[in-house]
Amino acid sequence: MGFIFTVEEKCKGCYACIRSCPAKAIRVKEGIAGVMDERCVACGYCIDICAAGAKQTRSEVELVRRLLKEPAPVIALLSSSLPAAFPEVRPGQMVSALKKLGFSEVMEAAFGAELVCREYGRFVAENESKPVISSTCPAMVSFIEKFHPELIDYLAPIVSPAVAMGRVVKWQYNPDARVVFIGPCIAKKAERSDEMVGGVIDAVLTFPELGGMLAVKGIDPASEEDGELSGPRPGLGRLWPVPGGLLKIAGLSADILSSDIVVAEGIDRSTSCLREFVEGKARTKFLDIFFCQGCIDGPAIDNDLSLFERRRLIVEYALNEVDRARTESDIERYAGIDLRRGFTDRYTELPTPGEKEISRVLGQINKAGTENQLNCGACGYDSCRELAIAVCQGLAENEMCWPYLVDRLQGTQNELIRIEKMTSLGQMAASIAHEINNPLAGVLVYTKLLAKKMTLDTVKKEEALDHLAKMESEVSRCSRIIRNLLDFARQTEPMLRLVDVNQVLEQVISMVGHQAHLQNVEYVKEFGPSLPKVKADFDQLQQVFTNLMLNAIQAMPQGGKLTFKTSAENNKVRVDVQDTGCGIPKENLDKLGTPFFTTKEKGKGVGLGVAVVYGIVERHDGKVEVQSEVGRGTTFTVYLGVHDDEAS
Ligand code: ADP
Repeated sequence: MGFIFTVEEKCKGCYACIRSCPAKAIRVKEGIAGVMDERCVACGYCIDICAAGAKQTRSEVELVRRLLKEPAPVIALLSSSLPAAFPEVRPGQMVSALKKLGFSEVMEAAFGAELVCREYGRFVAENESKPVISSTCPAMVSFIEKFHPELIDYLAPIVSPAVAMGRVVKWQYNPDARVVFIGPCIAKKAERSDEMVGGVIDAVLTFPELGGMLAVKGIDPASEEDGELSGPRPGLGRLWPVPGGLLKIAGLSADILSSDIVVAEGIDRSTSCLREFVEGKARTKFLDIFFCQGCIDGPAIDNDLSLFERRRLIVEYALNEVDRARTESDIERYAGIDLRRGFTDRYTELPTPGEKEISRVLGQINKAGTENQLNCGACGYDSCRELAIAVCQGLAENEMCWPYLVDRLQGTQNELIRIEKMTSLGQMAASIAHEINNPLAGVLVYTKLLAKKMTLDTVKKEEALDHLAKMESEVSRCSRIIRNLLDFARQTEPMLRLVDVNQVLEQVISMVGHQAHLQNVEYVKEFGPSLPKVKADFDQLQQVFTNLMLNAIQAMPQGGKLTFKTSAENNKVRVDVQDTGCGIPKENLDKLGTPFFTTKEKGKGVGLGVAVVYGIVERHDGKVEVQSEVGRGTTFTVYLGVHDDEAS
């Protein structure tokens, strides 16, 4: 498992990590942005950018706790960016705090910088003919090994200060000791297990992990007495975390008039410098290169201090407590430590999709043709084409394209409306069958009666005409009901036109009114006169009020009163559908409108009615309000905007 991972429950699918990742090491699967260990360089940019806190570092706190319980002494190597991470704590106080945690000694990793920088000075001088890239930033080393192995040859084959210090301790100072490096860098965790430098650092804690361990033990380093650092002492080596620190310590100069020595910090600048190397255009003799703005900008420094402030704190610390004579004698003592290292080609190639494949994906997300490619970047990729390539490579999913998703949701909403329509139709079918059956039975009776009378020749002309008129009226009623039903069931494209809401309600009542009768529900129409028209889709409004009416009737199984009230209010038409039914408990009010929320028994409700009402009204730029009291009844109020021409 890698050093950065995703806490799946926290991932909100915002894809900010994709945008921030310089290594294309994020793969989205079922909406979760996971980290691909084989590509991750542990730079920590995704951790910084993830507002949901879903990207986290694999903690080595438990490992350190285990080491501290073992009999072997455990030495803490403190990064000299400590003052930038804990500005309120003096290094001596941190020594005491660490000893309380169980560390036997606390040393400064910056002494490693003294050794390493001298090695750099020598190496750069000896390799005048070939440009050199510094290998001090572990994230950058990993980036070159994984993505530009052709540059490995330029990397200075020199260990980092932390590893140099690990070698000082393990190879000379106390080979029995365990070594824990504490610093601002996540990539250090990966570095310690790199087989090319491995074995000298047993665990890596980030500053926040250290803060957590201290907090668990109730240790406040700021209130500790000053303790004594041990081991070899650094001088200017403490400047290491500041950009250009290596040059200063090594006595190299990045003269602005010369391009011989260049310091490149941050993703953009460092990757463009690397590109120059790849393209063979680099004029630089020595490139000191970092993923961050130097280690003072490391991803595991958890405070809001500006880089200038952090720089000031480190410089102050470096200049304050220098004992040059001691540093020189320590350097002499450890001069024999081998500081060399090798590198590994870890190149992993992603498949290169063909044009046909890319076009297929672009077509799937409705982005065929450049005119449809919005390149909005919401998916985390700079362009639709890049997203399509990533989909082909198995790194991304079509659903990451927001415009495509919105289109699909729109389709889903239409589908919901259709499903709900079928449900309403199902509910109406039984009562409509009853409604049609009655007049048909009447027609049958009159037909038989008329036939009998004609056979017996007892029919009078007026009587026959009267029977026929009754039959005509009943048949017309049937035909009207069926026509309404067909209208309701019809699949039509939504069409906005000027609609009289009272007319919509009349239509709804004509279809569902008989159901109210069957259930002893009296309905009352309080229609506002000369109501202004609204611009709406007639069929969809019909669906809205059918759903509300059916729900209201179902809420009054013992009968009751259903009132339809319409009025004009501030350029809006207001419709109240008020029942005297069971009411809705407070805790359910918030759930109304959530698809598939139902309190009805299986087969009676699917929980789409109110969701569809909300969906349709919202699409008409309207608003739905609900007032309800358990045992007394419910009022659904729908506001619809009046069409401009109708507005007063
Ligand atoms: P369904 O009717 O299939 O349950 P709806 O979305 O239409 O789905 O309604 C969801 C839930 O809202 C109902 O199960 C019911 O609990 C409640 N509800 C809706 N309208 C009313 C009403 N007028 N009176 C009481 N409860 C209602």
